Amino acid sequence: MVVIMRPNHTAEELDRAIRVMEAGGVNVMISRGSETTILGAEGDARGIDAQKMAALPGVERVMRVSEPYKKVNRKYHPDDTVVELAPGVTVGGRRLLVAAGPCSVESREQITAVAQAVKASGAQVLRGGAFKPRTSPYAFQGMGYEGLDLLEKARMATGLPVVTEIMDADDIGYFVEHVDVIQVGARNMQNFSLLKRLGKVNKPILLKRGLSATIEEWLMSAEYILAGGNENVILCERGIRTFETFTRNTLDLSAVLAVKRQSHLPVMVDPSHACGQAWMVERMSLAAIAAGADGLIIEVHNDPAHALCDGQQSITPEQFDGLMEKVGAVAECVGRTV
Ligand code: PEP
Ligand code: MN
Repeated sequence: MVVIMRPNHTAEELDRAIRVMEAGGVNVMISRGSETTILGAEGDARGIDAQKMAALPGVERVMRVSEPYKKVNRKYHPDDTVVELAPGVTVGGRRLLVAAGPCSVESREQITAVAQAVKASGAQVLRGGAFKPRTSPYAFQGMGYEGLDLLEKARMATGLPVVTEIMDADDIGYFVEHVDVIQVGARNMQNFSLLKRLGKVNKPILLKRGLSATIEEWLMSAEYILAGGNENVILCERGIRTFETFTRNTLDLSAVLAVKRQSHLPVMVDPSHACGQAWMVERMSLAAIAAGADGLIIEVHNDPAHALCDGQQSITPEQFDGLMEKVGAVAECVGRTV
C-alpha cells in the first residue's frame, strides 16, 4: 500500500497517518519530495482499511499495490490446484475436463440420451439444470427435485458425474447428497451468504463469473468459499455483458490468462452462454483451449429447436462429437490431453 499525503498536510496529520499504518501491522517508509510526502507500507498491509486510511485528514490518495485475495492467490499457493470431481475425474491437471449436456433437464429420455451421446464423444461430466435462473417468472423454471432425480438416473446409466446449479442455500444439504459438483450461476456469484455456506461443504463448486463482475470481484467470491474451508473451487468464464449485442455476452478469453496468472484455481470456459449462438460454440471452444483453459462446459441438446431453455445456443450430439475431435487436436498443440 502506498499513501500519498496532501501537499499542505500538517505534521500532526502525517504522524497520525503513520500511526494508523503501523497499527495495521506494517513498517512505514517515508519519502519526502519538494511537494509531496509518500508513505510506503512494508510488509503485509491487509490489516489496514484502505477506505478509512483515505478518509484521514491530510491524506490525498491511497493505492493498493497487492491483491485483496489471499487463499486463491497464486503468490500464496504457487502450484496449480487440481480439483477431483469424482474418483478419477479431475480438472486443473494436464488433462482437460469437458462437461456437456442440456441447459435444462426436461425428461428421463432426454437427459439419459444426451448423457449417453456426450459420454460416447468423450465428455467426462454431465451438465443439466434442474433449478433454472430465468429472467422471466413465466418462463420454464426447471424440473426442480425431479430434475435432480433424473440427473442421478442418468449418472447411474452412464457413470458420468453431474454438475447442476443451486439457487437456494436451503437446498445445500440435498445437493451435497445427490450431485457431484455444485454450480453457482453467474447471477449468484455475489450471493455472499450462499458462498459462505458453500465454504462449509465438502463438494467441488463451479463458480461462474458474474454478468458484470471484474476479475478481482470474481476471485473475491472464490475467496469466500476457500475462506470457509472448501478449497475445491473451479472458476468458469461464461462471458460478460458489454455494449455489444450481436452475441449474448462477450467471451473474455483474456480473463483465462489473467486468472491463471493471479490464482492457482482451475478455470473452465462456457462458450454456450458467452456467445448465445450454437454456430459459434466450436470455434470459441478451440480458442478457449488455446488460451489455456482447463476445461469446457458446453450445452448439448438432442433437439435444440424444441429445447425448453437456451435452444439457440445448444449444439447437437453430432456437432459435439465433431467438436471433441478438434478439441483433441488443439489440446495437443498446447501440451494438454482430452
Ligand atoms: C447455465 O449454466 O445454465 C446458466 C444459467 O449459466 P450462467 O449462470 O452462466 O448464465
Ligand atoms: Mn443455459
